[in-house]
Amino acid sequence: MSFLELGLVEPLINTLRDLEYKVPTPIQVQAIPVILGSHDLLARAQTGTGKTAAFTLPLLQLLMQPSQQDTATSTTSALIEKNIRALILTPTRELAQQVHKSVERYSRDLPLVSALAYGGVSLNPQIAAIEKGVDIIVATPGRLLDLVSKGTVKLDEIECLVFDEADRMLDMGFMGEINRILKRVPTQRQTLLFSATFSDEIYALSKTLTSSPKIIEIGEKNTAATEVEQVIYNVDADKKRELLSYMIGSKNWHQVLVFTRTKQGADLLAKEMTKDGVKTKAIHGDKSQGAREKELQEFKDGNTRALVATDVAARGLDIEQLNYVVNFELPYNAEDYIHRIGRTGRAGQKGLAISLVSSDENYLLEEIEAITDIKFMQQWYPGFEPDLNKPEKRPRKHSKGAQKKRARERALDKSGSGRVTKRK
Ligand code: AMP
Repeated sequence: MSFLELGLVEPLINTLRDLEYKVPTPIQVQAIPVILGSHDLLARAQTGTGKTAAFTLPLLQLLMQPSQQDTATSTTSALIEKNIRALILTPTRELAQQVHKSVERYSRDLPLVSALAYGGVSLNPQIAAIEKGVDIIVATPGRLLDLVSKGTVKLDEIECLVFDEADRMLDMGFMGEINRILKRVPTQRQTLLFSATFSDEIYALSKTLTSSPKIIEIGEKNTAATEVEQVIYNVDADKKRELLSYMIGSKNWHQVLVFTRTKQGADLLAKEMTKDGVKTKAIHGDKSQGAREKELQEFKDGNTRALVATDVAARGLDIEQLNYVVNFELPYNAEDYIHRIGRTGRAGQKGLAISLVSSDENYLLEEIEAITDIKFMQQWYPGFEPDLNKPEKRPRKHSKGAQKKRARERALDKSGSGRVTKRK
């Protein structure tokens, strides 16, 4: 199957040729014709599968057709202002930036203008860009609503609404914002819902957002990208950092993305690894957008050897040829495991995902095994065997209240304005 056979027009085919995209990925093969056919879509695909092009390419092609308003007022078209015709919503700033970059890349040879809107930075440059007139806006929900309330953004001409990483949007508590946005977009529109995982909540959301959607599921149910080798090392919690620094140093790994559960944990680990001789930085929601971008760039440029991130901060990072992901701590939310390891093994490359699991995390590993349907082989790293005489730490079972609190902690991490409760 080629991009031409999928029905894409020549300017897009030429751009894809320049980008050296030789064949469409499975999500592209399935989603492009559905979107070009103007259907609503509910698609399960992880980051790294080519899903951004899967929705952006057909969306751009549809936008090349004149809008109803243009057709109705073609004689006076020079006088009317440009309306926003497509809205792409993402849960995080980083993903918004990444998607916008893709939109710009794919629309390179088309007379379509796009803008980016996300929080944590000054409104004015975003307002100035939007006021010049744009066809497409890529936004996080909160900042979009700010711009709507200021009258900068009007959503009443939206023809296509895209939700990227919808599961994460729900996870981060964006339902209120989504409902407010829905009140402002026309009911007659095309809606595309992309999610890395399908859950009852996602099905329920798709019922309110889409109309008779086509459903596409790429990969097996809630599984990680197959190019990722997953390895589990059982290790005492107080030996994890030493083991991690040792592995990176002795195996001469570069560009290692490390996950912790909390912002404080990320900062502390980065500091200690740097003391161990592994140059490491941390990114999380407490850091300014500028600081996060700078640290990410240093990591991409190879100046920083390891980057420690919280789940929310890492969402949407697209780092080409990322070979190593380390779960320093397992996530409380098993689905985050899939998101985390999706950072490696991207676009067909091989990746290695290592999880350092202490005895108090065994119940989290069981949850991961349940949703991925994998029984992991657990092993010890020579020289870092766990001390079996140590009294086993009892895992803290999480009540519904505690789970809600954690969801809130994760949501606060995105805004960078919240405190994270220290766990024992
Ligand atoms: P995404 O899942 O959209 O984040 O894409 C992951 C990576 O795959 C990005 O770096 C894209 O540039 C790249 N990509 C997307 N589609 C293709 C394709 N058909 N061939 C080669 N690379 C692709």
